[in-house]
Amino acid sequence: MIAASLPSRQPKNWQQQMAEAVTSPAALCEALGLDPVRAGVADSLFPLRVPQAFIARMRRGDYHDPLLLQVLSVGAEQAAVEGFVADPLQEAAARRAPGLLQKYRHRALLLATAACAVHCRYCFRREYPYEDNASDDGRWNAALASLAADPQIEEVILSGGDPLSLSNARLESLSQRLAGIGHLRRFRIHTRQPVVLPDRVDDGLCQWLAKLPWRPVIVLHCNHANEIDDAVRQSCARLRAAGATLLNQSVLLAGINDSAAALCELSRALDGAGVLPYYLHLLDPVRGSAHFDVSARTALSLHGAMQSELPGYLVPRLVREKPGAASKSPVRNEED
Ligand SMILES: *Cc1c(COP(=O)(O)O)cnc(C)c1O
Ligand code: SF4
Repeated sequence: MIAASLPSRQPKNWQQQMAEAVTSPAALCEALGLDPVRAGVADSLFPLRVPQAFIARMRRGDYHDPLLLQVLSVGAEQAAVEGFVADPLQEAAARRAPGLLQKYRHRALLLATAACAVHCRYCFRREYPYEDNASDDGRWNAALASLAADPQIEEVILSGGDPLSLSNARLESLSQRLAGIGHLRRFRIHTRQPVVLPDRVDDGLCQWLAKLPWRPVIVLHCNHANEIDDAVRQSCARLRAAGATLLNQSVLLAGINDSAAALCELSRALDGAGVLPYYLHLLDPVRGSAHFDVSARTALSLHGAMQSELPGYLVPRLVREKPGAASKSPVRNEED
């Protein structure tokens, strides 16, 4: 890729875009020419939140738009469904320090902030108790001390919330402190921001990435090919130019991406943006998300269809999270 194709951009201020995100279901319906009653909207304790940049990729007048369905708060969330609970992953057991989770060997997850640019209705952290994870740097002290004290930990994963909700200055101060922990060999970021708010990938972020003492791995979160437009492709190109390896994780969601065609198109669109598919997750059974559930049997058949349609490197691993397991668990044939 030639440098000239990656112009330095002075994007619209992303923080302002985050602050101006749409939070009213009625306003979102109006922007898309939809009748809120027919769309089934309802208020929720996990409020609607979606930036204009993401709304711009939704189709007007389409009640089944795959991007809309990821963010619109609807009455179906209020249904009590057996097996769908507040903390499906039982993460409390994995808490090593305030804001630090460790479930798997050699890698730990730092919940760097609770804030997200978008609220995804199926999010397994929608009921996560974040209050011990407030936003001033001092709150990271215990987590950083815990990381520093355990030489077994080779990799830190910035997660949240969305870690790229933090300003470049705060990311810099965090990474400087992490760089002082000699046994950290890998640095990863789990983020949806370059997809939902591509202007987040500004010059300062790229400069920060390029200067890190590790080659950063960025795991994006994108569920449908329609999420990837020119602005997202350009942001991904800038992240790669800054030295990042780009992967993607998706959640299999009924009515959104639960067809072989949608999943294959997503892999092709990711490839076109220079991103490799990493995981395709079965939905975590969090309360309020049962209407997105896809059975393991259907998931396996969709995954099989992807394998016969795509090169192996464009087929994500189909996994589910089981509390207490040593890693994400591959979904296998013998399951229901
Ligand atoms: C998913 C997850 C990871 C990362 O797992 P990988 O298989 O390495 O991608 C790490 N820690 C926690 C707590 C996780 O939930
Ligand atoms: S961006 Fe990630 S953490 Fe935030 S609501 Fe969506 S899935 Fe959850």
